[in-house]
Amino acid sequence: MKASKAEETRKAWLATLEKFRRDPDRPASAEIWSPSLECCSRDEIAAIQGEKLRAVVPFLFENSPFYRARFDRLGQTPSDYRSIEDLEKWPVVDKTEMMADVAANPPWGGYTTVDDALWAERGWMLFSSSGSTGTPRPFRYTHVDRIHWAWANARGMHAMGFRKGEVAFVMSGYGPHVFAWGAQVALETLDLACIPGGGMDAKMRANVILRFKPTILVCTPSYALHLARVMQNMGHDPARAGIRTILVGGEPAMGIDSTRTRIEQLWNARLVEFYGCTEVSPHVGGYSCLADPAPGEPISTHLMEDIQIWETVDPDTRKALKPGERGLTVCTSLNSESSPQLRFLVGDYATFTHEKCACGRTHARALGSFAGRSDDLINLRGIKMYPVQVEEAVRAVPGIGDEYEIVIQRDDAGLDTMTIVCEHADHKSESIACKVADEVRARCEIRVDVVVNPPDTLPKTEFKAKRVRDLREK
Ligand SMILES: [Zn+2]
Repeated sequence: MKASKAEETRKAWLATLEKFRRDPDRPASAEIWSPSLECCSRDEIAAIQGEKLRAVVPFLFENSPFYRARFDRLGQTPSDYRSIEDLEKWPVVDKTEMMADVAANPPWGGYTTVDDALWAERGWMLFSSSGSTGTPRPFRYTHVDRIHWAWANARGMHAMGFRKGEVAFVMSGYGPHVFAWGAQVALETLDLACIPGGGMDAKMRANVILRFKPTILVCTPSYALHLARVMQNMGHDPARAGIRTILVGGEPAMGIDSTRTRIEQLWNARLVEFYGCTEVSPHVGGYSCLADPAPGEPISTHLMEDIQIWETVDPDTRKALKPGERGLTVCTSLNSESSPQLRFLVGDYATFTHEKCACGRTHARALGSFAGRSDDLINLRGIKMYPVQVEEAVRAVPGIGDEYEIVIQRDDAGLDTMTIVCEHADHKSESIACKVADEVRARCEIRVDVVVNPPDTLPKTEFKAKRVRDLREK
């Protein structure tokens, strides 16, 4: 009896997904992949979300032990969730709850609907969170995931202006991480040519760019900076390499003006970004459009609301906030077989708007994009700041190198101090250190020590940058 219910709810969920997978193979218009989804009214968005929610909740209840137990604990049943207004009844799920679930039910945890039998029958690829903040959370993706992921990401890339005739160079080690693979499957749906850039060092990649002339780069923001410097050291100007667009993910970049400008100027290319996290993949959560940034307007990131429900919540009470109120991002993923989460705390600070974008799309946008997860928040003597604020400050000083490090220590008197280590050709002059300290004080309202080293003395970042060294005892 139970097996049939699990299968029944799964079938109904899949049928609902299929119903709304409009324009599955190619864009319906030159600018917008699926205008009936991306430019529909707010009421229509809510109706689609409601219908998918009514399908995904029973599917989760019947197929995920973690969710079944949570429903039982809360004294709730799937019939409590009839529309998106009901979502507030469901307490936000956070990473620690998921990690405890994996620890209790190794190695897969019970928050997924993919069991051994389904993995054997429909398995496609394993992805995993990096595990930098605890036990890695693995996800077993199915071919259903692959199909929906490729379609959703292709819609995002179409919005970014990727068009037939272009060649993308995906600079990734092709490990079990969602960003590069998500780009890879979408490039296939877009019918674009691709150069897989695994197993190469930066010099080899620079030579690939010079010789084979890709027009799109896919990498982390740190790597885009690093590779540009490597090319310069080889005697080439990256601005003349013919790159039109750089698609980044994994670290915030669009929302940090100084970083975005630096990458765009080095490469003479447009920067665009995918926003998301492993837990609510597959699918990019957010993407940049061609209307952005409009003159005088803040940069913004589009969200894809027909496949995910995005909210912001108060960091303390975790109650839902209204558009325009700044809070932490929470995602309900409606289209995922490996990870169909209800109200998962992604945890980036963001401010949403429901105002229509100049590109014509009506889905929510994060104004000012995203600046990093709340777990990255630095607390120094009660003053809270993000590493990106320090990054803004350091990069505001002309001539400063791309690499920098934030070192936090506790001195003998028990006082927490922050030292910023950076690079500059004029490292002997005291004025550089003063300028960096002034910029940090202006942005973060703290006094910091600054050490200026000669260029190329800090370790080079190739992938996800680790720029904060917190040496305080936990
Ligand atoms: Zn737009």
